[in-house]
Amino acid sequence: MDSCDKCGNPQIIIKMKRSGQKLCRECFIEATREKVLHDIRKYKLVDKGDKVLLGLSGGKDSVMALEILNNLRERHIIDLVAVTIDEGIAGYRQEGVEIATRNAEILGVEHRVVSFKDCFGFTLDEVMKNDAKNNRSRHACTYCGVFRRWIFNMVAKEEGANKIATGHNLDDETQSILMNYLEGNIQNLTRIGPKSESKNPNFTVKIKPLREIPEKDIGLYVVANDMEVHFAGCPYAGESFRAEIRDFISELSVNHPTIMYSTLRGFDKIKPAIKREFSGEAPTGTCVQCGEPASGDLCRACSFLKLWSDD
Ligand SMILES: [Zn+2]
Ligand SMILES: [Zn+2]
Repeated sequence: MDSCDKCGNPQIIIKMKRSGQKLCRECFIEATREKVLHDIRKYKLVDKGDKVLLGLSGGKDSVMALEILNNLRERHIIDLVAVTIDEGIAGYRQEGVEIATRNAEILGVEHRVVSFKDCFGFTLDEVMKNDAKNNRSRHACTYCGVFRRWIFNMVAKEEGANKIATGHNLDDETQSILMNYLEGNIQNLTRIGPKSESKNPNFTVKIKPLREIPEKDIGLYVVANDMEVHFAGCPYAGESFRAEIRDFISELSVNHPTIMYSTLRGFDKIKPAIKREFSGEAPTGTCVQCGEPASGDLCRACSFLKLWSDD
């Protein structure tokens, strides 16, 4: 009969893909948390005394990252502050903001909600309407990524945070590796990893503590832990190539259950060589408008703002 390989509990909830271990609820939570804490030490994602800013959307990945980073905060290893960015997407973001707020409250983690509207004077919905009117066909994700990055850097500076953490998981990371490889974006590959550092001191170091945890395990972790999470997908999410790659990998995983780990491991081995050969010039300048990193006079956020003020 099946029972937990660690404690003998007959109620197992998962057979781990990597180790083949069968685990009960308690032992699964424990093993997964230990794995993340192990990775944080292994990749030196945080140092004692760091102040970490976590991007907390309210989705399962960021809620799990919050719970585990809070563990380090309670042990006085790091200081932690969470930020939820409200892009202004009607019918979607509000629920995420509320769930993020409740999770931070339960754990007693300092939490800020920063909106596009307050920072830039418009919502993402308004940007997309304006784009349609002016016959521009940029994808919402382009704007969203640029303005979110700007806000993260700004809030990190305001809060005195020296690390920015995100909830990227194994599936996200494997998809990014394969996408960039297949599209020939070798420069982008040089930036994939558990920890990004830039020569530009204006950039805050970014860390991904959940990078080696499969998305399914994260879903199970938050359910097993009784945590409230936002399951809705963004209505603008139309990254169709990523979706194709995701389906392709999950199809492969049926017969090759550890394919995501081997993709990640293989990539991590060749990454130093790719980096040596293909590391491009990081923007070394400073935006004349806002002081954020920029390759020209204006950073990308300020270039968009200028474009719209000219409309
Ligand atoms: Zn057990
Ligand atoms: Zn700027």
